Amino acid sequence: MGTASEALERDPEVLRRFLARISPDDCYPPMTGGFFRLEIGEEWPQGKVLSAWARGLEALRSGKAPRALGLYIHWPFCLSRCRFCFCPARVPERAGEMRGFLERLKAEMGLFSRFFRGFSFDSVYFGGGTPSFISEGDLAELLRALRDSFAVGPGAQVLFEAAPSSLTLRKLELLRSFGLNRLTLGIQTLDRDVLRSMDRGGQTLEGAERAVGWVRRFPGVALNVDLMCGLPGQSPASFLKDVARVCRWRPEMIHINQFDPRGQARSALEGGALSEGDRLRARRMLEAANHLVRRLGFRPPRRREKARVLRRLENRQHISVRWNKGSLLSLGPGVFSHVFGQCWYRPAPGKEGAGGGFLAVPFGLEEEMRGYALHHLETHRRLARARFRRLFGSDPLETVLGRHLRDLEAEGLLRINRRWVDFPYSGVHPGRRLAALRRLFSPAMVSRLMAVHGADCQAFAARCREIGPQAADEELVSCSRDSFTSRRYLKLSAAPES
Ligand code: SF4
Repeated sequence: MGTASEALERDPEVLRRFLARISPDDCYPPMTGGFFRLEIGEEWPQGKVLSAWARGLEALRSGKAPRALGLYIHWPFCLSRCRFCFCPARVPERAGEMRGFLERLKAEMGLFSRFFRGFSFDSVYFGGGTPSFISEGDLAELLRALRDSFAVGPGAQVLFEAAPSSLTLRKLELLRSFGLNRLTLGIQTLDRDVLRSMDRGGQTLEGAERAVGWVRRFPGVALNVDLMCGLPGQSPASFLKDVARVCRWRPEMIHINQFDPRGQARSALEGGALSEGDRLRARRMLEAANHLVRRLGFRPPRRREKARVLRRLENRQHISVRWNKGSLLSLGPGVFSHVFGQCWYRPAPGKEGAGGGFLAVPFGLEEEMRGYALHHLETHRRLARARFRRLFGSDPLETVLGRHLRDLEAEGLLRINRRWVDFPYSGVHPGRRLAALRRLFSPAMVSRLMAVHGADCQAFAARCREIGPQAADEELVSCSRDSFTSRRYLKLSAAPES
């Protein structure tokens, strides 16, 4: 296997197609091999991660990094393991397991907290697993430990994921006193047969309505409800009944995600891939839901108001890290942290907790620029030159990206004017579009990917020669539908009409 740059020189188009195939979404560093695995990471001892934070926070203090700073707490336990779920979550196997986990989490807080003195987080996200599956006593202790370890800014978004089966009024009181202002209630479906076949234990309609009633006692808490469409055994009528019921609760936001077994989901491991017919059915269900929520006084945020609505109601931490490249400290197993200008990392499997090791991808300022441009061009279809300048101190055309952006413009794929770099959808084959942006990957990142996937790349190159570039582009499009965070992943967000 030659080096990545040799491969690029030999056949850059094939290499880019291959990169698009193994990494078809806008994640950079690319999450090949499953979203939570970071298979291209290298092992870092704890001290190296702490030094990265020390440098990253110094950059933040001196205004050389985005001001956004998020804290994510992962509670990996659930009452049951739903068949559709790909999150790092498990059912506790023995008494005291969650208690022991809380102690490890507190030790992790102690490890990082000294670096964060003088900083406050502008988002705190409790995710999982099922964070509401914690006992009331343990939740009080967790919140106390967080207060003692970190500062949360006055305007921070504090978001908690809950399942109706384990949420209680007392837990809400504790969270509200910590600053909770957005709660995501994972309903997914209210159909009893589907709940049973998906092994989603403990959920009932009555329990869900009781939980909504409790949340409504706290007017400062925005309620978001998650639903799923296209689950096995879920009929369109049953799904739309759920949508109508949820609309009656008047949540501030409804998210509907399409069932799509992937990654570590039990349905995926059991081989339950979706057929084109399944996808079409789910898409139709989503379209029907779109009409129904509009009839019931909700509507997806319009493009122009999206930023404002999203700031108020959406997961701000997600936006801050993915759109604006803010830094993120994550505590708990299997989750990513990002230190701007330094690295992305996650605990190495089996080495979680204070004293453990990490898998990391070094991520300097150039990589940040590449990641920022990739995300904005791929997902938002345009890159604002002024915002880029504010963040990185230079115009994108004067950075390491300049040559690639001009090449793409010369090929008719980009339009560049004084304010924007535009990446329009129309007129170009989607497979070619996907591959074109892989030009922005750094040689170092390509080398990492080739170290893991080099043999697959050679097989792919042979196949491309056999079927020709057009057929290869077609294949790319169909593969991208299976990507973890693909734009084609169906999703409807709706908020009540104001
Ligand atoms: S969907 Fe939620 S409750 Fe079900 S296994 Fe995943 S994290 Fe746990």
